[in-house]
Amino acid sequence: MKVAIIGAGIVGAAIADAMAARGARVHLYDMRRPGAGASQASAGVLAPYVEARPGSPLLALGARSLAMWDAWVAALRARARIPFHYDRSGTLEVALGDEEAAHLRRSADWLAAEGIAHEWLEGAALRDREPQVSASAAGGLLIPSHGCVQVPALVAALMASARQHGATCETPVEVVHVEQKTRSVGGTDVPPHVHLRVGDRVEEFDHVVIAAGSWSRRVRVAGVPVFPVRPIRGQLLHLSWPGESLPRRPVWGARCYTVPWPDGSLLVGATVEDVGFDEHTTVAGVRELMDAAVDLLPGAARASLDGVRVGLRPATPDQLPLLGPLAGHPRITLATGHYRNGILLAPYTADVVTRLLLAGDPDPMLALTRPDRFQEAR
Ligand SMILES: Cc1cc2nc3c(=O)[nH]c(=O)nc-3n(C[C@H](O)[C@H](O)[C@H](O)COP(=O)(O)OP(=O)(O)OC[C@H]3O[C@@H](n4cnc5c(N)ncnc54)[C@H](O)[C@@H]3O)c2cc1C
Repeated sequence: MKVAIIGAGIVGAAIADAMAARGARVHLYDMRRPGAGASQASAGVLAPYVEARPGSPLLALGARSLAMWDAWVAALRARARIPFHYDRSGTLEVALGDEEAAHLRRSADWLAAEGIAHEWLEGAALRDREPQVSASAAGGLLIPSHGCVQVPALVAALMASARQHGATCETPVEVVHVEQKTRSVGGTDVPPHVHLRVGDRVEEFDHVVIAAGSWSRRVRVAGVPVFPVRPIRGQLLHLSWPGESLPRRPVWGARCYTVPWPDGSLLVGATVEDVGFDEHTTVAGVRELMDAAVDLLPGAARASLDGVRVGLRPATPDQLPLLGPLAGHPRITLATGHYRNGILLAPYTADVVTRLLLAGDPDPMLALTRPDRFQEAR
């Protein structure tokens, strides 16, 4: 099968790697370079039990994907020689006041009811586990199954692995138009195929996957309304932590979260801003994150600011991805709209798309993410 993938962010790269490894002839197109969209800005935290509400479909998707990460990383490391940091030391959610503590205790009750491992920490036990957390913290919720990953290097490893299996990637080139075609030869229908307008050429494929993140609505598909994906800007600080006692794991507060990297740096994320396709950093965004980081981890006041990253999260109206075949256009599959959890959901996304396209095996959970679900609601 000859497959085109539009977009080489974490989602497109993960699908390309999985499909190429199973024998598909994969061609990626990216208007920038691989990983240069939202993925380069991501903090790489894998935390469904913080991100999703109890009982929500996002929780079901996130928990399923989280369970795939260890094996996914092991297989990728065996194939690609590009190292990337991956850690499953958990996350620590911290309450800085009584109201936040009450909220966290409710989360702990819910986790207990669901049978999800967690630990409530306060006082000396909290400081012992994470000495950098503010001494005034009222309590903390440790979820040991959570983790984090270094995203830019992960995307590079996925691309290297995909290329080893014969995938190609053309950049910088924008795919602006997609059309599923049917034809008959000598009166007999032959399977439909897809035409892609790539710059000023037209290319033909058996199947196309649209993984263009926030820019997905700019890829026009003949006969289909624009996809309901819009950009939500996130700014993220890159700090150099002073001394050696970096926090051991991602620490989550009500106003920011922090992620330690093995090179001694600390990421502080992230703003959530509805400003269209504007990818600039702002003084207000940086100040908001700096203030929140110092409240959570007072040692951050002595850190140096190494840089600010910006990315556009691809958001949908219900904050679930648009994942699956387009109704009436079975040769066109969407894998976009992963909003705040595109890294967490990458192994699941790659797996369900690959099984669907190469084995005709639709995963039952695809019912949650049908791309046409908003058309029916209108
Ligand atoms: C500050 C920040 C922090 C985040 N933290 C986390 C986190 O901790 N955990 C988590 O799971 N998620 C996190 N996210 C969300 C995550 O980064 C995104 O969900 C994910 O990167 C989306 O991946 P993607 O491949 O769909 O999109 P992108 O990475 O944006 O990739 C889309 C690609 O498509 C290309 N493209 C677009 N249109 C076209 C076209 N017409 N033709 C050719 N190429 C095209 C673009 O150039 C781009 O490279 C964070 C996001 C931000 C901004």
